[in-house]
Amino acid sequence: MPPKTHEANTPRKESQQNKNSPPSLRNPRDENATEEIKNVFPDKNIVSCLIHWAVRMLHEHGIDSPRLDAEIILSHLLNCRRIDLYIHPDKPVELHEVISYQKAIQRRAQRVPLQYITHHAEFVSLNFYVDERVLIPRPETELVVEAVIKRSQFLPKETEIIIVDIGVGSGNIAVTLAKKSDNARIFAIDISPDALAVARINAQRHGVLDKITFLCGDTFQPLAGYGIESKVHFIVSNPPYISSAEFGDLQREVKDHEPYIALVSGQDGYQMFKHIIADAHAWLKPGGFIIFEVGEKQAQPVARLLEDTGYFKKTNLIKDHQHIYRIVISQMEKTCG
Ligand code: GLN
Repeated sequence: MPPKTHEANTPRKESQQNKNSPPSLRNPRDENATEEIKNVFPDKNIVSCLIHWAVRMLHEHGIDSPRLDAEIILSHLLNCRRIDLYIHPDKPVELHEVISYQKAIQRRAQRVPLQYITHHAEFVSLNFYVDERVLIPRPETELVVEAVIKRSQFLPKETEIIIVDIGVGSGNIAVTLAKKSDNARIFAIDISPDALAVARINAQRHGVLDKITFLCGDTFQPLAGYGIESKVHFIVSNPPYISSAEFGDLQREVKDHEPYIALVSGQDGYQMFKHIIADAHAWLKPGGFIIFEVGEKQAQPVARLLEDTGYFKKTNLIKDHQHIYRIVISQMEKTCG
């Protein structure tokens, strides 16, 4: 669970920003419209004017990258490439599209993440559907996928690789692993039925529904009855890891719009790690791996939690693109289980 928006890799605190109220949606051509309302509406319904208006609006509401966001949203609504907005700046835009654009820009001004507006998030070069039911996939989570793929190459070719993903969210980890590994059998668990519905959309989109068993419940509990005790090659999880105290300091995009349940894990942020680590050994094959994404400064404590069980000895820590330890990989003792 990586608490950031599309721009940043690490949790960001809310900065001092213009906290104006959202722009009005009143009809600007209304003769009673005030100057203020005219200001919040494009002069002409053509591409360049719409963008100009949106940039101004987003800038006034403290959005960091107003032009980029304005262009991405318009190209999404017009179903064109961003470059087309530059090639055809005078292209007329239909009134219903102008209204949709105005609503979308208003949502962005209210700090709805861009990805929830476009319903698009890229993960390992795959396009994932996202909405407010799930966490937006983050680039550092790609390292979890990479770690599994790297280690599965050492398994005999014909092995069916059993993977358990706890907290599947949008399905980014499970679906990507199903796509990249021919012989993976994946159990994708989430406590939120809403999240599972989104993960299924993505599994279908990428043609891997038959490789993933979606289960609703708390950590390993829904695995009972599948006969995979002591047979799992990889347990992967990007669990909630923010402490309830830190939650209030997150960016508005995150704290006001992403699912709380996917972000926060008790008072210290370690509740889910402890919960997963307590039972992991019963499901892993001896020599199997547990791979976690963790928050800043959590790598060493999580490694210690794993080693304190007595089941895990070899723990590796991997840095993210910002050189912060964010991935913990631990192998279960070969003699255990
Ligand atoms: N597995 C999803 C992700 O990595 C969801 C994680 C979560 O909900 N905490 O983005």
